[in-house]
Amino acid sequence: MDKDWEKADAGGPHLRRRSLLGAAAGAAAAAGGIVTATAPARAEAAPRPAPSFAKGRPVVFRNVTVLTGDPRLGVRYDSDVLVIGRTIRAVGRNLSVPGDAAVIDGRGAIVMPGMIDTHRHMWQTVIRGLGAEWTIGNYFGWIYERWAAFWRPEDLYAAALLSMVESIDAGVTTTVDWSQDLRGYEYAIAEAEGLFDSGARARLAYGYSFAPPQEWVTKGDVARLQRERFASTDQLVTLQLAWDGTGTERAFPERPAWEFARAHHLPVTMHSGVRGWMADEQILNLRDNGFLLPTNTYVHCGTMSESTYELIAGSGGTVSIAAESELNAGQGYPPTGRIHAHRIPISLSSDTQVWWSADMFAAMRATLNADRGIDHYRAHAQDKTVLNNNLRTADVLRFATQGGADSLGLGARLGSITPGKLADLVLVRADTPSMVPLINPVSQLVFHAQRGEVDTVMVDGRVLKHQGRMLGDTFSRARRLAEASLNHLRERIGERQWAEAQRPGPYELG
Ligand SMILES: [Zn+2]
Repeated sequence: MDKDWEKADAGGPHLRRRSLLGAAAGAAAAAGGIVTATAPARAEAAPRPAPSFAKGRPVVFRNVTVLTGDPRLGVRYDSDVLVIGRTIRAVGRNLSVPGDAAVIDGRGAIVMPGMIDTHRHMWQTVIRGLGAEWTIGNYFGWIYERWAAFWRPEDLYAAALLSMVESIDAGVTTTVDWSQDLRGYEYAIAEAEGLFDSGARARLAYGYSFAPPQEWVTKGDVARLQRERFASTDQLVTLQLAWDGTGTERAFPERPAWEFARAHHLPVTMHSGVRGWMADEQILNLRDNGFLLPTNTYVHCGTMSESTYELIAGSGGTVSIAAESELNAGQGYPPTGRIHAHRIPISLSSDTQVWWSADMFAAMRATLNADRGIDHYRAHAQDKTVLNNNLRTADVLRFATQGGADSLGLGARLGSITPGKLADLVLVRADTPSMVPLINPVSQLVFHAQRGEVDTVMVDGRVLKHQGRMLGDTFSRARRLAEASLNHLRERIGERQWAEAQRPGPYELG
């Protein structure tokens, strides 16, 4: 279990009240015995004037509960966070700040590190919700076998932009676009520009799932894209690769793709441990050929043997859990507890919006629900009772923040509210009907907050959402483009398949 989120500074959550009541009452408050509000409830509060967030202007979050996620800082109550340029400059009480700093009133709110989604097939966002009833078999049948060729570059641009806007709105400041439909440079550059134009942080995981990687990775398009758009690794959008390899055989035809990845310093993300599709052999092949790399991210991993988990643990690689996906689609049961027991670093992901939302609060809850649920189920099957839950709210909060940063190799620069790190911050209202009274900001953030509480989102020191509203016109533009794209795709798919896909037939064991 992780204690980073639970360490509090001496003041506890109710400093103002404590100073009135005295030390004895303060001690009771810190123990959870007294609940006070430091600001009027949101519904009753007067609207606050929005400060201007001109480029380069420092920003200070004042009098806020800070979930730093930094083991040395823990949770800081009634504190300030100062951002100058792209970075977090200081965390503390009554900070001295530059005279021109924009002030965000943090009373009645929590500030947390931006959340990170490490596996999302953004291209499918333009057909959001279409596959709500699908299994993974339905998904392959419709999207893989029938529709993928219908996406044009402009559809990929629209989908990426909309998906990123959804990220910003939900407090997800970094998203891995696990692309699968990049049929060449013009497709890849379109999808990349959708990521760049959002203003948020992303990783384009360049992929084409309809041919083995050795057939497309070395063809020149990836190298050209890296040269022309990703020459720097210190920019909001960075590049890596995505493929699955031969998942059930002891063979390694994809060696040229791996050699390319290593030569170009591009990490690789793979679907792994997926029932009937990606088996332990995938990992054994990597081991035998020297590509079980610490930069690898393995997605799902529900069906692996314990010895394979040991191999991943020893390699330094990370695992992305997409619990909503695994529970609904059937790749294998979310393996969070087992992965955690092997001390493999974990991040969380939403997979695809053709089924689910890109809400990381939902991802955290699904992860906990699945893990606690299976523990209770197994215990009850042996007529036993689980006395204490294994996985904790602090664990999944770390998976959704620092865990994501670590998975991307950005852990030293992102993932916690630590002075010197890049300023990717989310202000979550804690004075709403679903959040008051605030007793434990960590557990309430996980089990009670939702994207409606996301008030302010900052990426790389820039405010992209404030007072619950997206700044600028990116959303309206993304919506317009996505609706145009949907019209095109629906026409190509045809009304019959469009209707049939939303009502998959009776389930039969295959
Ligand atoms: Zn996936």
